Amino acid sequence: MALHQSDSIILKTYPLGEADRIVAFFSRDFGKLRGVANGARKMKNRFGASLEPLAHSRIQFFEKENRDLVRIQSADLLDSPMKLFQDYDCAVCAGHVVELLDRFLPEHEPQDAVFRLVRMTVRALEQGCDLEFASCYFEVWMLRLAGVFPDLFVCSVCSRLLQDGDARFLAPGLQAVICVDCDHRTATSILSEVVDLVYLILKSPLETKDGATDRALRNLHELNQYWIRHYSER
Ligand SMILES: [Zn+2]
Repeated sequence: MALHQSDSIILKTYPLGEADRIVAFFSRDFGKLRGVANGARKMKNRFGASLEPLAHSRIQFFEKENRDLVRIQSADLLDSPMKLFQDYDCAVCAGHVVELLDRFLPEHEPQDAVFRLVRMTVRALEQGCDLEFASCYFEVWMLRLAGVFPDLFVCSVCSRLLQDGDARFLAPGLQAVICVDCDHRTATSILSEVVDLVYLILKSPLETKDGATDRALRNLHELNQYWIRHYSER
């Protein structure tokens, strides 16, 4: 049985029997894991607030070969998520982040870029950033890192690189882009401000909201929801 330690982000917990909890957590070094925290349901327990959703905690755990669940030995809180859950709209956004992580992260696979994305998103939310922008920003990057977000900057038919102002269309199924010179009779057009917004999100840190219109945010959020649903149905 090997003892490991890794900085982690708590995703969800479920009660297990009278006294214990199952904890889904995203460890920086080992990826998404599930483990048992003995005694975590007791009133006064050694885990305190370190197992709350979105807590950033240093977790020590034992891993046994051929067992799905690890055993959580200790959890030290590095950064409390409490501030995120004091405002209702912010809490909804934080909950959305947890849902997407739980859905898109594969088990046992370190994903350092996603780990950094979560930490950046949590910090921006704590500092009172625009919630719709933060939500859209997290969706685009999460979908992209999971390989679900389509490349909006290359025509899927002629492979031409598309610039910022070029008109473009989404092929039926909304998974691929077609340029104006290729056959796009059955395709749907994309608002150029949505492309601008995606470009902004891919090039800038989360604090920069300049140039994101409400219409583009709404439209991109809807497209993201479509891709999230499509991925879940596969
Ligand atoms: Zn083309």
